[in-house]
Amino acid sequence: MAENEIIVPDTQENAERCRCLQCPVYNECMGNNEELLFCSRGSTGCELEKRGCLCLHCPNEIEYRLNSFFYCQKGAATEKNVASETLK
Ligand code: SF4
Ligand code: SF4
Repeated sequence: MAENEIIVPDTQENAERCRCLQCPVYNECMGNNEELLFCSRGSTGCELEKRGCLCLHCPNEIEYRLNSFFYCQKGAATEKNVASETLK
């Protein structure tokens, strides 16, 4: 897989698994834009306050063997950005 290739497919099934709607970071701006599945669709244009992320509890994180989080801020999961970000 190319290092910039997006790992998680943008499918209805994956969107339904996404935990972002339950996350404390998810805000009104994101909701108004109907944003979701940031690990696949990329980062938000909304302002956000980092205070926890549910990605590590998401079935997509496990299924696609991701090892990062805060995709709403850092953008879609690619080989490059999950490999360079170890769990902190
Ligand atoms: S890993 Fe995070 S951004 Fe991706 S589907 Fe799960 S909760 Fe949503
Ligand atoms: S990517 Fe993580 S921090 Fe951002 S809204 Fe989704 S679960 Fe929350």
